[in-house]
Amino acid sequence: MIVNELINPKSIVVIGGSNDITKPGGRVMKNLMDGGFRDNVCVVNPKEDMVQGLKCYRTVGEIPSSDLAIIAIAAKYVPDTIRTLAQEKSTKGFIILSAGFSELGDEGKALEREVVGIIESANGSLIGPNCVGVMNSFYRGAFACAVPRLVPEGCDFVSGSGATASFILEYAIPLGLQFSSIFSVGNSAQIGVEEVLQYWDETFDEKTSSKVKLVYIEKMDKPDLFLKYASSLIGKGCKIAAIKAGTTSAGSRAVSSHTGALAGSDAAVDALFRKAGIVRCSSREEMVNVANVFMHKELKGDRIAVITHAGGPGVLLTDALAKNNMKVPHISGPRADELLSKLFHGSSVANPIDFLATGTAEQLGTILDYVDNEFDDIDAAAVIFGTSGLFDVKDVYAVLNEKMKTCSKPIYPILPSLVQAADAIEMFKAFGRGFFPEEVAFGNALAKVYHTARPATSGSEIKADAKQIRKIIDSCESGYLAPELVGQLLDAVGIPRAKEGTASAKGEAVQLANEIGFPVVMKVVGPVHKSDVGGVCLGIKTDAEAEAAFEKMMAIDGATGVLVQRMASGMEFFAGATKEDKFGHLVLCGLGGIFIEVLKDTAAALVPISSETAHSMIQSLRSYPLFKGVRGKEPIDEALFAEIITRLSALLEAAPEIAELDLNPLLCAGKSIIAVDARIRVEI
Ligand code: ADP
Ligand code: MG
Repeated sequence: MIVNELINPKSIVVIGGSNDITKPGGRVMKNLMDGGFRDNVCVVNPKEDMVQGLKCYRTVGEIPSSDLAIIAIAAKYVPDTIRTLAQEKSTKGFIILSAGFSELGDEGKALEREVVGIIESANGSLIGPNCVGVMNSFYRGAFACAVPRLVPEGCDFVSGSGATASFILEYAIPLGLQFSSIFSVGNSAQIGVEEVLQYWDETFDEKTSSKVKLVYIEKMDKPDLFLKYASSLIGKGCKIAAIKAGTTSAGSRAVSSHTGALAGSDAAVDALFRKAGIVRCSSREEMVNVANVFMHKELKGDRIAVITHAGGPGVLLTDALAKNNMKVPHISGPRADELLSKLFHGSSVANPIDFLATGTAEQLGTILDYVDNEFDDIDAAAVIFGTSGLFDVKDVYAVLNEKMKTCSKPIYPILPSLVQAADAIEMFKAFGRGFFPEEVAFGNALAKVYHTARPATSGSEIKADAKQIRKIIDSCESGYLAPELVGQLLDAVGIPRAKEGTASAKGEAVQLANEIGFPVVMKVVGPVHKSDVGGVCLGIKTDAEAEAAFEKMMAIDGATGVLVQRMASGMEFFAGATKEDKFGHLVLCGLGGIFIEVLKDTAAALVPISSETAHSMIQSLRSYPLFKGVRGKEPIDEALFAEIITRLSALLEAAPEIAELDLNPLLCAGKSIIAVDARIRVEI
């Protein structure tokens, strides 16, 4: 969809270019020329002969052929202009900066459709309308953007919001982050975020393409394509950080399950990012820090050496890393003693490695060599080095730059003295380096990158009894399935459940209770939320209690029978699924029972789910320590819980008609995990 004329045009026309650089048409021309694109640029403006030193044509009919048109005129003039460009001037690339299209309602939508139609019939590509433009190492076709250093190895960046694109650059440029290309896709009339990902994927070249991709997206209209191209890029060795802003409500979806209430499209986005291996960010600051981490050598482990000449920030960083499950291991032994002997008296190498306010550039070099060559249980170094203003730190930053080149482990520069060391920081940036201004934000970003799960490599490995599942599903109608059918489906996929049966007469209930074995639980069949209507009776120990409970259950409005179930015990977790428009099935798990809606401690993944992904879901729960056993409580069998998740995934694959599914609670006690309440709603 993206043609080469849009990426690397040999000639550009600016329609609506002017001398006024406070207007988009004037500013984009200035940016183009400042970026070195001066030849083969022309301008169309009916009121001028020369614009910013370039020949200006009165009408588009007079211009020479142009590969790319950047358009900054009122929306109503756009269709005729691009028709001439597409049909008479061989123009293939179009960037429409102008607003006044689909964002303004039906009339604007029609205008936008007309424009897309004209461009598509000429096999052209359109960025916008209503966008800030495009910048890459060939040309700067954007207005109102702070311009970063554009180099092939910089980040590729696509944004669904022009303003946010500009503000991300405003934050990134002072920190030395370099870019390779920037696409502001505006209304995404033809090319949106998904198509830019597709372009990056299809043109990816191991040797020349940037490996860092940044995405800001507001509306995810094509999650399937997003997932496909993002996964493919990550599979090719790219790293992606993305912000998905705005969480739309789940719309008209009937939400009657716990899982449904907890899901919604934001959980689906989380799941999609998890599946692809995208690092999800929530602020510009975080995105820029994560991007900066990406620009360093690959971090192979979680053990960090904190190197500093100032105690406080070293401790802050150590705390931030530890809080985020990273390690700052104690360093000792003969090699450590040897290093200590080369530093000033009073230094410490135990980690944090503190080489004092008087520490020198040479000492920093020595420390980094030791970290790289001698300390095997360290995977990376974070160097915090600023100045009180009494010392020039240029020599230190020069050493830092050299060691970042030569050392095999990543070295992260945290340069806090934005004012006092401004000159030295400029020098460091001129080496092509980015840096981190603040240690805690750095620590959080590093941990986030490190802990983002690798993309799922396989689907669910479970073999479900698909024939049996289809037999059940094919014979049922839309709505909630009866408990017996729910039970049969769980059995067909091997999800452990409590021994149970349904009774419609008192004698039958008592007999069932005896067969199952006291103590039992009795539950009303009919109402969806049983506890809410007093429809759950726990701890029934005798025939008489069973009879009384049966009567109580059958007196409830809507009761059609009574479920008799073996009483179990354990910690309450849940697992469930919803069907999300365009995303497919989303499986959630987390802390269940009465805490489910209060704590909202959940993890989500998209079907199909591998065992690896299921484990990563469990491990990302805040309540994960419960799986390890706390305060004398038995640990929970993580492998079995993960298996239940993959079995759920297999069930959903075999029965895509399942719209909502809830196993709440799953009672977890040591090696036993069983479903005591299951609900399934199907849409046939
Ligand atoms: P609902 O969710 O419709 O209110 P449940 O079947 O989940 O009904 O029962 C409510 C609560 O009762 C559960 O969260 C759990 O704490 C407890 N419970 C239900 N069944 C059992 C059982 N077989 N053994 C032990 N506790 C149970
Ligand atoms: Mg329940």
